[in-house]
Amino acid sequence: MKYLEEFQNPELARGLLEDIRAQVTRPWALMEVCGGQTHTIIRHGIDQLLPEGLELIHGPGCPVCVTPLEMIDRALEIASRPGVVFCSFGDMLRVPGSDRDLFRVRGEGGDVRVVYSPLDALRIARENPDKEVVFFGIGFETTAPPNAMAVYQAQKQRVRNFSMLVSHVRVPPAIEAIMESPDCRVQAFLAAGHVCSVMGTEEYPVLADRYRVPIVVTGFEPLDILEGIRRTVRQLERGEHRVENAYPRAVRPEGNPAARDMLEDVFEVTDRAWRGIGVIPRSGWRLSERYRDHDAEYRFDVRGITTREPAQCRSGEVLQGLIKPNQCEAFGTTCTPRTPLGATMVSSEGACAAYYLYRRLGTPAVPLEASPVA
Ligand code: SF4
Repeated sequence: MKYLEEFQNPELARGLLEDIRAQVTRPWALMEVCGGQTHTIIRHGIDQLLPEGLELIHGPGCPVCVTPLEMIDRALEIASRPGVVFCSFGDMLRVPGSDRDLFRVRGEGGDVRVVYSPLDALRIARENPDKEVVFFGIGFETTAPPNAMAVYQAQKQRVRNFSMLVSHVRVPPAIEAIMESPDCRVQAFLAAGHVCSVMGTEEYPVLADRYRVPIVVTGFEPLDILEGIRRTVRQLERGEHRVENAYPRAVRPEGNPAARDMLEDVFEVTDRAWRGIGVIPRSGWRLSERYRDHDAEYRFDVRGITTREPAQCRSGEVLQGLIKPNQCEAFGTTCTPRTPLGATMVSSEGACAAYYLYRRLGTPAVPLEASPVA
């Protein structure tokens, strides 16, 4: 197949669904790691088309959702300071901090700008040598390489007024934390294909062995998801626990060596707090010692901030797959995309936003013919 629409082909989707139905003999719980996969699943009603007892648990792979509250509050504090140009991807502007968001800071006179690349922020720094330009570097292994490149270029070009507020997270330690949780129900993972296109698949066999879980690297179109589920179920039914690559058009076992070299040069592994979940050991990256001059946390000394999470928000349970978004009392009432209480209602990859957007307000399963995928 060559074109994206071909990965949404209804006939092929039906065939994969039939194959999945034919294989399943008992209940299984699979977790799709990435928020992009969650959106495809909810948008096309894939979870509602699966045989009874085959459950998809939505994982924590939404970069905006897991950025810890203290990091949002640090961003708000830095962006409020005079002489600062604070640059970020658009999603982050609406993420609630303890008492406001970046839109509010902009409304109060802060110079907060939406950029499409960290290199745009670097350009702004070069053009405004009298300002401190800060880029908010968040996300998983997918967004980390271009952010590393921006810091590398800043140092090489001696752009001293450029710094980055870094809150990067890594997938494998999160899988480990999920499996170690006493409440864990996950029996297999659909791993995030774009993460593996950078990092490869070498980090996963040890996890599949230790926790005896199949891990299938999966893409983002409906057929990708169904093929990932089909392979995962096949392993579960056979009692296997291997790493499989069901996304070979984008993922090689070694990943992207140039991107990995850049990450290794600019970042070092650190413990990282995940919003609503808590600290996961070795689950993040921060700038390494060599690039410390470009680290906004040090430059602005914003490390002693105390935070307040809204008591109503259950996004931590959503992110760990313990509840579905529509089981939160605030869902669709006090919490909507226009009035989000938690980051999972803000991001285009957030599970709460997906449930709201696709009208999943506790509706029963739709028949095959009524589904957009079928
Ligand atoms: S619906 Fe809103 S309040 Fe409830 S968990 Fe999701 S983001 Fe938090």
